[in-house]
Amino acid sequence: MRDDVPGEGRVSAATGAPEPTHALRVDWPDCRARGLCAELLPERIVLDEWGYPLVLGPVPEDELTLAREAVTACPRRALHLVRR
Ligand code: SF4
Repeated sequence: MRDDVPGEGRVSAATGAPEPTHALRVDWPDCRARGLCAELLPERIVLDEWGYPLVLGPVPEDELTLAREAVTACPRRALHLVRR
């Protein structure tokens, strides 16, 4: 991983592609396991056997808009988009 592109964030040394700068976090005490976030962002969130969301890795740039929409749609405000 390189960090030599000022203002552009990190890029992969192997591919030159931008490294994801954000990740989703679940605030477990507030989550009610209804699964709306997994419906809105199935590429990044799956549900465990009890219906709680499991986040699959960081959020790539091209999923940031959908990730923000999922955060906004969470009825419990239990889903957060954070910088890595
Ligand atoms: S939308 Fe919010 S409350 Fe529902 S499963 Fe996802 S994080 Fe939990």
